[in-house]
Amino acid sequence: MKFYSTNNKSLKVDLKQAVLQGLAADGGLYLPEQIPVLPHHVIKNIHSYSNQSIAYEIAKLWLSPDVPDEDIKRVVESTVFFDVPQVEIEERIFALELFHGPTLAFKDFGARFMASLLGFFSRESSREITVLVATSGDTGSAVAHGFHKVEGVRVLVLYPSGKVSEIQEKQFTTLGDNITALEIDGTFDDCQRLVKSAFNDSVLKSHLVMTSANSINMARLIPQSFYYFFAASKLSSDAGLVFSVPSGNFGNLTGGVLASKMGLPIDHFVAATNRNDVVPQYLSAGVFNPKPSITTISNAMDVGNPSNFARLLDLFNHDHSVMAKFIHGYAFTDKQTRDAIQHVSQSKGYIMDPHGAIGYLGLKADNVDRNKVGIFLETAHPAKFKEVVEDILHRPIAIPDKLKELLNKEKLSIKLSKEFDDLKEFLLR
Ligand SMILES: *Cc1c(COP(=O)(O)O)cnc(C)c1O
Repeated sequence: MKFYSTNNKSLKVDLKQAVLQGLAADGGLYLPEQIPVLPHHVIKNIHSYSNQSIAYEIAKLWLSPDVPDEDIKRVVESTVFFDVPQVEIEERIFALELFHGPTLAFKDFGARFMASLLGFFSRESSREITVLVATSGDTGSAVAHGFHKVEGVRVLVLYPSGKVSEIQEKQFTTLGDNITALEIDGTFDDCQRLVKSAFNDSVLKSHLVMTSANSINMARLIPQSFYYFFAASKLSSDAGLVFSVPSGNFGNLTGGVLASKMGLPIDHFVAATNRNDVVPQYLSAGVFNPKPSITTISNAMDVGNPSNFARLLDLFNHDHSVMAKFIHGYAFTDKQTRDAIQHVSQSKGYIMDPHGAIGYLGLKADNVDRNKVGIFLETAHPAKFKEVVEDILHRPIAIPDKLKELLNKEKLSIKLSKEFDDLKEFLLR
């Protein structure tokens, strides 16, 4: 399969290059020349497939023949090994819980798939691959866990000192082995700038094979289409499917659009955001106007210039009206988010995290009608946002054992200034 850059359709690379480069050389995002379609019999009999066999059927379409069948199976098994429960919260409204992986957030799917695929590509080459990732919290933990002990790959997680929660910090500073946490004396923006500078530095480029594990990588997108099929396989009715996706960089929603293009019958999507509403604004007014991000209680979605928007435009041939028909956009305030968490906890006994709550609100605003089923993606375990959720519910919420164990482990990090020369020296050492 060949991938083109959204900035230039004639710039084409193969799967390995797309995954190793992340971003195309011209700054565009990679998309496949042709989106593969699942065989009709697989879609028709989807109810009889397990999650792993669904994921395998999809992965095969994207990875074969570049990756041998045995390795495709390995990639799938290292990604899809935990439950993805679908909980009915109200009549025809379901929460698709994507947070049962090692770091309790949906980013585990993308990070594990990419780690496993990169592990395969590194076995093919003799040089070690260096993965750089800047994080404000969730991405770093999913990537660190996904890549832990993957041979031939070393991971450097850059994070702003004192600006991530204790639980988040423990998730990427306690692993050791091939994972190194770099505690930067600066902000998240400094971390991102350092990573960008490293990719543009000619000395580093000649000494190291470097790639980034952020959400623009094609390898993170492919597995984010899997669970839309998992959801469909568990529903017994033929009701039209509406997916509400709490969105920040819009990688998750792009995964959903790929799922529909791969043949999954989806009625439409809801793009639900917090006050960082540039995409809902675009859908209603037709103008895309990126802004600086605003801080909210659903902070993993505080994005003012969503990186996957270029992909969405391309997938809809830059036709605003077609996109607006298929994706309905809504934005919500922190107050609305808090009220929804409170209301659903009180009336249904179900605790949503602040991101999932925005997905839920999206379905309510969209008025899913009688012959449809609404599914919102629950992207993180509520305990990951313990302080916020406890403040809303006025009672303690349980911390899963996976997180509790972490809190007793020793933090290992290397402190660096925000000067690029310090990072460069570290990388060349
Ligand atoms: C990253 C993240 C999102 C947003 O996903 P995008 O693909 O960036 O739109 C939503 N919820 C949680 C918990 C996240 O970590």
